[in-house]
Amino acid sequence: ASERIPLVAGNWKMNFDHLEATYFVQKLAWLLRDAHFDFRRVEVALFPSFTSLRSVEVLVEADKLKIRYGAQSVSVTNQGAFTGDISADMIAHLGCSYVIIGHSERRKYHPEDDANIVDQVRAVLAADMRPILCVGESFEERRQGIELDFAVGQVHDVTRDLNEDEASRLLIAYEPVWAIGTGMVATPESAQYAAQAIRDDLRTTFNDRVADTVRILYGGSVSSRNAVELIGEPDVDGFLIGGAALDVDELAKICRLT
Ligand code: PEP
Repeated sequence: ASERIPLVAGNWKMNFDHLEATYFVQKLAWLLRDAHFDFRRVEVALFPSFTSLRSVEVLVEADKLKIRYGAQSVSVTNQGAFTGDISADMIAHLGCSYVIIGHSERRKYHPEDDANIVDQVRAVLAADMRPILCVGESFEERRQGIELDFAVGQVHDVTRDLNEDEASRLLIAYEPVWAIGTGMVATPESAQYAAQAIRDDLRTTFNDRVADTVRILYGGSVSSRNAVELIGEPDVDGFLIGGAALDVDELAKICRLT
């Protein structure tokens, strides 16, 4: 049995303005309180738009909520003439614990390559937050049977530039691209294979401490119908959730089932 505390992470993507975000957080907190949810057993984090982070911070502080939150991306530079960008310090000063990095939608719609992703990871670590690095194969790599090599390679591209301390503060989300937003969830066995392969790679690159510390989440059409089986796998340490994280009752249910 592992000492890793599971994380249920809800990625709202470009949904909810700050009023809707505030309502959602209040309702989730209320539902979890009602269910005597134990935040020492399972961690819960939400990823609102940048425009909602301040509202979420104020609410979490005022009501002393145990729900954590973070940002969906970050600039690789810390300040200056970068119109439209948001720095890691700005995010950290809003009380964020985590930043999602390299989500497949960012890799697809923005020029985020491996070098940029490594720089984002460094920026987040330097600002004392934790990066959640997203990796995962597309349908094509799965068809070719190279999905494990692909996902492990994506992790390796980032971790080879990190030292042991930096690597131990990373979280990894294994998100097969074909499973994101499609309703096609990976089987628990294939989620476990990928998580295990990633953990084995951390063990080889670093050591047992890093491999046994880093939490590896599964993402891709997670719902209350499949969460129990997935979390039963020894190397799956929680979820990164898109669609189901937009429904507060469903998200509260997944938290309880994790
Ligand atoms: C995601 O976007 O990270 C994700 C896993 O989405 P969904 O849960 O909707 O598949």
